[in-house]
Order: sequence, then C-alpha cells, then structure tokens
Amino acid sequence: MSNLTKYAKYLVEKGYLEHDMVESANQKMLEFGENSAGALARLLESDFAVPHDKVFEALAKHYAFPQHDVDAELLEHKQLEACKDILNKIPEDLKKKLFFHKIFPYMIINTDREVLQVLASDPTDKVIQEIPEQTQYKRIEIYWSHLKTIESLIAKIAPQKNEFLALLEEAGQVLTDIDDGSSGMELNEAALDDEINKSLLVNLFEGALIEAVHKDASDIHIIPGGRSTIDIYIRVDGKLQLWHRQEGTAPEALSAVVKDRSIGVDRFERDTAQDGFAQRLIDDHLIRFRISIIPIVSSEYDRRFESIVIRVIDDRKVITDFRKLGFQTQAEQEFIKSISTSKGIIIVTGPTGSGKSTTLMAALHHVINPTVNVLTCEDPVEYVIRGARQLKIGHKMSFDLAIRSILRHDPDIVMVGEIRDKITADIAVKLANTGHLTFSTLHTNDAPSAVTRLYKMGIETFLLAYSINIIIAQRLVRKLCQKCRRPLAKEHWPAALAIGLTEEELQSGTIFEPVGCNKCHEGYKGRVNIAEALFFYPEVRNEIVKSVNDIDEERIRAIAEKKGMLSMRRSGVERMREGLTDLTEVLYATAED
Ligand SMILES: [Zn+2]
Repeated sequence: MSNLTKYAKYLVEKGYLEHDMVESANQKMLEFGENSAGALARLLESDFAVPHDKVFEALAKHYAFPQHDVDAELLEHKQLEACKDILNKIPEDLKKKLFFHKIFPYMIINTDREVLQVLASDPTDKVIQEIPEQTQYKRIEIYWSHLKTIESLIAKIAPQKNEFLALLEEAGQVLTDIDDGSSGMELNEAALDDEINKSLLVNLFEGALIEAVHKDASDIHIIPGGRSTIDIYIRVDGKLQLWHRQEGTAPEALSAVVKDRSIGVDRFERDTAQDGFAQRLIDDHLIRFRISIIPIVSSEYDRRFESIVIRVIDDRKVITDFRKLGFQTQAEQEFIKSISTSKGIIIVTGPTGSGKSTTLMAALHHVINPTVNVLTCEDPVEYVIRGARQLKIGHKMSFDLAIRSILRHDPDIVMVGEIRDKITADIAVKLANTGHLTFSTLHTNDAPSAVTRLYKMGIETFLLAYSINIIIAQRLVRKLCQKCRRPLAKEHWPAALAIGLTEEELQSGTIFEPVGCNKCHEGYKGRVNIAEALFFYPEVRNEIVKSVNDIDEERIRAIAEKKGMLSMRRSGVERMREGLTDLTEVLYATAED
C-alpha cells in the first residue's frame, strides 16, 4: 500500500472498497498526473462505477467535513423563503455553476457573524470558494450531503423553468390548422415545411421532453386525436395521463417536427415503423430519448396519421445499489447469494414495465469491477453501463450473431437482454455451465412458469436444474402517498380478509387506501416492487430433474414456499402490511394468482 495516497488508504482501511480496486484507481490517477483525494474520488466514480455518495461520503469523513441532509419536501414555508432569500443574493452565473456542481448555499447558521452553511456533494470542490469571493457571504461552513439532498433542494427551491412551455403559453392558442379543406387532399410537404417553421410546435415538442423529465415520466405518447387535434400523454408510475391537448393543429405537422428534431428517422416516410433517437441537456443532465413512430389507421381516410411514443432514458434513475431495490428480506438474501458466485443463470421475469431492467442493472452493478470482463447483449441498449462492454446490434450484427460472438470474447459475466428462443437459451446454459455468471430476462407471469418456458424451448431438465441460480418474478405496484393515505374503509374489509389480512390488522388501522392530495397523483406516488424469488435449493433442482413429460409448476411452488418463498400475492400483502401499497394495486398486479 506504499504508493497509495492517504485517502486511498482510508478507503481500504475503513472497508469502503476493496484494496485491488483502490490500487488500480490510484495507479491510473498517478498516470494522469493527479494526486488529490478529489481526483481519486472522481475517477472511482467515473471509471470504476462506484456510487457517487459512497466515495464522497468517505472523502468527507476523511477530511472531517460534517454531514447534513434534509428532505426538501418537508421544509417549512419559512425555511423555503429563507433559502430563496439567500439565492437571490448570489449572482445568476455563479448560481448556475453551483447547481451544476451540486452545491447548495443553504442557510445562515450563525446570524451574528452571518456564517453561510453550504451543502456540497463533493466538499472539496474548488467552486465552493467562489461563494465568499463573489457574494456578501464572506464566512462559509461546508457540509457534505447526499446527491439526493442537493438535487431535491434545487428542484424544490430553484426549479429550472421549462422555457419552451413558457413560450408556448405566451404564444397562446395560435391557430395552426393547415388543412385548408379545399380538396381533402393530403398535406403537401411544402405546407409541412411552413408548419415546422412555426416555433409553436417546436416548443411543444421540446417542452414535452423537459416536462416528462421533470414529472419523472417513463414515456411520452403523441397521438392524433382527429383532423386537427393532438393528445399528448405521459406515463407516470406506470399509468398514462393526459398532459396536453393541442387543438387546431394537424397531427402530421407535429409528427414532422418530431422527426425533424430526431436522429435516424426519415421525415418523408409515413408508411412504415421507424425508430429514432434524441438527446437533450436537461437540468444539466444529458437525457436520451428513444423514439418509436408507427403509422396508424384513422377514420380520416385521406390522411396519414402516425402514433409516436418516446421513451425517456434518464441515467440518474439507474439504481446502482442493489439494496435500494428494496426486495423483501429473504428474496434479497437469496438474490445476493445467487449473484455472489462465479457461475449460473439469474433470471428476472415479468411483463413489460415490471421493472425487470432496473433490477438487472442494479444486480449487474453489484458484480462489475475492473477485474472481470462484463459483456452485455441487448436490443436495443437502454442504459450505458460503465465498466461493461455493450455489444452494438445493428444492420451488420444481428442479435443472434452477437450472442454467438459472446462465447469467443472471453467473458466472465454476461447479460443477455432476453432469452427469446432456443438459441439464446442454449447459449445462456452453455455460459453458465462453463463457469460464467449470466443475467437475463423472460416474459412469464411467475417464477415456476419460467422453468416451464425454458423446458418448452427445448432445454433438458438436468441442464435447467443445474444451470439456474434463481428466478425472480416481479411487478411494480404504486406506492401510497404517505401524506394523504387513510385506513381502509370497512366495506373493503371482506376483500382484504380474503387475501390473507387479519381482522386485527384491519381494526388497528394500519392497512391503508389512497385518497389524493396536491403532493401525489390519485393518492399514489412512486412505486415499489413485489416479487416471487425462486431460489434453486437442492430440493427444487431434484424436483426439476425428476420431471418426465412436463414441469410440475405446483410441486415446485410448494417446495419453494416451504422454504420460505413468498408468492407474488403474499409479497403484495406484506407490502400492504408495511403500509406501502393498497388492496387495489395488489389485486391488479396479481390478478392471475
Ligand atoms: Zn397524497
């Protein structure tokens, strides 16, 4: 450890990180000609995929910076006003710079001497020193805060305006109907060109992108509502909600704007499905958008309408800390056990939108380190994963070709986006049996049926039994807003009793239902998983090997439940007991149980 800087030693001695990782990061830093703790911390974050808070918490402790965290949502009015007052006294340019560096000038902690408490996610950031240089606050005290604290303070106290929407409002309802109705003829391209020049639609499109990010939406849907109406929906917490209705505008005009401002789509093509891409800097973060355009039929026979769905890809939402996924105790322990070994298949199953990729991402981040070769093969690639080599699927390299080339690329850990057929299944099994850890997903309702699915793809029972470590089936249910939830009304008690809650639990008022307030949407805010974790205990493996003509899913389930596996519905009932979700959500998510 002789060459290690003091901070590097501290990271190892205090058990924050493994020695090998710190040593290679330290080496790399010295090669770059740097020698500061801050440089090492930044390198660990950028090149070694260590979560930001982990390295900087250690850095703060190493230099004895005090810590301060707050929940911006819980601040009182007086406090909010005081914060705004401080921000008003800071030059606009500096303020922008501070926010970009995740620094927040928070409050006066010593009124006599006017000492300003500054919260920073990197307390050694030199930008902090510009506060005493450029403002009236000559005395500052620096505190370390989690990234989330700073980001929530900025969002709450100094939210960045959606300029496009402001412009849109200023413009008012400009009539932009370009269908002159003269001959019922199709819109010509010249008319579309005129329309694109009208900044209104550009503002609408750009405004929608920003608003979707601000509202934490996963998708934006742009749907023709008629000859001159467009409906824009956003999906928040899994549900579509109408965000904006644009009247007096031909849907083709907005389609043209979207295509014009995206990469990889042909504006003049309106008869086939197209996939495009866009990226924007929003709130100082690079946000990517995947754009899917498909032609749709409509009653307007003389027009060519398209439906547009835009997926928001916000890297900040990637959960890199496995424990933050919040699996229930036994499922979490078994999951960790399954990925902490050097071989075997980890399968996450569930319908689209059940949070499979979030879980896989977190699991992958748990095992990535510079000493292993991590290869991923997905189509399309959703998130860029630091520390992994992600195969690029395209015209020349198909998914099948990519999958086959993985075997020859000396992998340690592989993520295959989805086991979709015998080829993928065979390769996953082959990888697992040759000492590789393999992550993948399936589309089945529950964990035991994933075994059947693989069996039907043609995988031998003994291979199935011995190559899989765990199958996690999961769903996302909406979380009750903690501010407005109330105890479940008596009329719903019979249904609650029927799914396993007790009379006493209902009497005690700790089982809730949604209400709705200004802090939430219809009584819900955020989502939480419910999961069925089928860990491959020897008993489970034996049962699968014994199968003759078919897989007995019920037997597998019975064996696993005896070992403590929660069924999806029981997992949901536990979430109700924790006060996190309600009867409607659990019944909806587990309807097939
Ligand atoms: Zn509420």
